[in-house]
Amino acid sequence: MKAYDVVLAGGGLVGAALAVGLARNGRRVAVLEAAERSANLQPSYDDRTLVINAASLNILAGLGLLPDELARMPVRNIRISRAGGFGRLDLHAADYQRERFGAVIVARELGNVMLAALEKMDLITQLCPARLETFSIEGDQVRIRLGDGNQLQTRLLVGSDGTGSMVRQIAAIASQRYDYRQSAMIFNVQAETAPRDTAWERFTPSGPLALLPQPANRLGVVWIDRSQAIDQAMEWNDATLLTRLHARLPRGVGELSRPGRRARYPLVRQQTSHPVAERVAVVGNAANSVHPVSAQGFNLGLRDVAALIETLAGHDDPGAAPVLADYAAARRLDHAETVRYTDTLARAFTNPSLLARFGTGLGLAAHAASPALGRRLVHAAMGFRDPVTRLARGLG
Ligand SMILES: Cc1cc2nc3c(=O)[nH]c(=O)nc-3n(C[C@H](O)[C@H](O)[C@H](O)COP(=O)(O)OP(=O)(O)OC[C@H]3O[C@@H](n4cnc5c(N)ncnc54)[C@H](O)[C@@H]3O)c2cc1C
Repeated sequence: MKAYDVVLAGGGLVGAALAVGLARNGRRVAVLEAAERSANLQPSYDDRTLVINAASLNILAGLGLLPDELARMPVRNIRISRAGGFGRLDLHAADYQRERFGAVIVARELGNVMLAALEKMDLITQLCPARLETFSIEGDQVRIRLGDGNQLQTRLLVGSDGTGSMVRQIAAIASQRYDYRQSAMIFNVQAETAPRDTAWERFTPSGPLALLPQPANRLGVVWIDRSQAIDQAMEWNDATLLTRLHARLPRGVGELSRPGRRARYPLVRQQTSHPVAERVAVVGNAANSVHPVSAQGFNLGLRDVAALIETLAGHDDPGAAPVLADYAAARRLDHAETVRYTDTLARAFTNPSLLARFGTGLGLAAHAASPALGRRLVHAAMGFRDPVTRLARGLG
């Protein structure tokens, strides 16, 4: 039976980044990925436009996964507003002594960079398509059985297998799930006059809408609404889509045209307060899936990656209980706060009570008026919540 230091179940964006980081630290790693290894078929590497915050850009760069052309769309301004309500918040990176808040990266392009890195590294074995079916703990080893009957062994099994994680379920790691009954529809559009380095977030009574800068004067649209409404919107013709999109937007975005292909994602919150069990850890969406309202999901997963790489460094046995306990302790606050903050935003801005709407409008205005509050919010949203890893600081 083949043996590895670490086996990762799931080679999506988070699993692939972790494999690269562990191999750079000298670990022998196997990555099991259930979906075919073509970036066109891999569900993690699709047309999603990801806002990658400053801490995550440092992590990707530290792992050698950020070629210059990937992060060519910086976000220097964020404009947050609410349809028909009080309050508007304009954030400028320069006010926080930053060149940019982060950058927009298309998941497919990042996926291609990651696949190339996985293939180059001798310490990484990719098994694909290969599905983890079950596992058991035997002494200081995890014995893993794959869907095709093959077996592997390792001292640490990491579940990077997404929201429905089998690893999490088999290891009986407790987690809570909440269905927002909302879906996100994504597509991109041509924009002639919208500022190139600005991300727009617009809150409407039925859900938020984000516009994110993309190369070649395109904007990535993330349109969130009740699932039934998104089902209908997926069927609209392009003219209707553009008319409805303009009706939702604030002034200043300008004329939008030529909408691209649409994709739809149902939205759930999955929260895990203790992401480890005997010789097992879960990371990324397998640990915590959050509403995309504040663009935090992958960023949170990358901070898992950085923390796990740094916690394991220098330990002979990567699956030893004290090492995994240190990892869980290092991630507790960031997990709890990021899930809470994202969930509050997702619910607050769609609360149907007039009073609550009034309150959130004032809340936005208060953020704008209180620099200290604004700074705290921005610092956390940029991924610098304590304890900050060396990789996230740019020292990796
Ligand atoms: C519309 C939308 C917009 C978003 N925008 C942002 C954003 O701007 N910024 C941000 O930070 N985040 C964003 N996110 C969140 C981000 O996309 C996710 O957090 C991230 O992609 C999760 O990656 P992952 O690798 O943890 O999980 P996944 O992408 O789900 O990957 C899991 C992988 O595991 C594989 N797998 C599953 N089961 C098994 C098994 N048993 N054996 C082997 N392999 C298995 C799957 O095939 C898959 O490849 C957004 C999400 C959505 C839906």
